[in-house]
This record gives sequence, C-alpha cells and structure tokens, in this order.
Amino acid sequence: MEKVICTYCGKDAVSIEEHEIELSEPYGGSSTVKIKEKVCSHCGFVEDDDSNDLVIQKELSMLKRISMVKVLDELNAMGHTTASMERALGLPARTIARWKNERSMSPSASAIALMRIIRTYPWVLAVADMQFDHVAARKILLQHAAKELVKIRAEHPEYTVTSSAQKSENHLELFIKVSKESIPETVSSGNYVFESLR
Ligand SMILES: [Zn+2]
Repeated sequence: MEKVICTYCGKDAVSIEEHEIELSEPYGGSSTVKIKEKVCSHCGFVEDDDSNDLVIQKELSMLKRISMVKVLDELNAMGHTTASMERALGLPARTIARWKNERSMSPSASAIALMRIIRTYPWVLAVADMQFDHVAARKILLQHAAKELVKIRAEHPEYTVTSSAQKSENHLELFIKVSKESIPETVSSGNYVFESLR
C-alpha cells in the first residue's frame, strides 16, 4: 500500500480510521455509512478521505429514491391516483409513474421537492385541480386549517378551544383561544376584577 502523507506536517504517520455517520432524507428515513478519516499520529491532524463524498452522495441519492417511492405510495393510499395527480399538476402522462417505477432513473431535485410539498399538504392537489383560483385556494386552506384545529383539540383534551369572530365598524377580529381548563378565568368588569373560584 502506498504511503499516505499528512498534508499538514508531511510525515507518513497517517492511519485511516473508519467511523459511521447517519444520513437522512425527509420521508426517506435514515441510514448509516462508513466514512474514512486520515489521522496523523505525529501532529494529530485529522482530514476527510477523498472517497467520502462519493459514498455520501451515493447513499443520499438512494435515500432520495426511497423517499420518492414512499411519498407516492402514501399519496396513492390516500386515494390520489398517479393519473389524477399528473392531471392536476399538468404533467405529461406517465411522468409520476416513471418517478415511482423506473429504478434506473433518479427523479430530479425539483420533482422530489414538489412531491414532498404535496405529501405534506395533500390538499394542494385540490387547489391545483381548481386551476389555482385564489378564492378556491383560500377556501380549501381554511377548511383544512379547521380540520387540523379539530385534530389538535382531540390530541390535547386538557385544553379548551374557543373561537370567535367579531365585527365592529373599523375592525374584524378573528380569534382562536386555546387554554388549559385548570387555569381560573379572570373576568374584568367595570373597576373590579373577579377571579372565578374553581
Ligand atoms: Zn501530521
């Protein structure tokens, strides 16, 4: 084996040490790869081995593929067919099917970004179906925001959620109040502040 020279001190006291690092991709899970470090026992200098970049890139592109397939499987399971997504997004037929099924091709970074956004907010497909009409988009957003609030409430039964809308001449006030039931309500009236006795 050829001698490895320390780039800092020039001595050939360099040994290769392997250690594992964890890589992850959104919706793709994580995996570990072994990378090499060149450690000089003379001066203590540590540097990355040139081979690491390739190892990391290869693993990340594998995780990106897994991520794309998982995202598409999950969207299919929610009832969004590949053809209906292509139609809503104005993509040529079979584009998404190719991202999912052709093992040999890596979907582009923009394709992965697009599908991750849709996986996070699947109702964006309904907005796309409405040709991105802004009134329809706002309505769909608010419907889904309301659904999320109901879910938050179910996940945290110890909180009370109240909401209201009040309109005066100059203001429209919308509020959502989330409070813990055990905190006593403070009610102010005129010059007096009453604390409810709970
Ligand atoms: Zn050295």
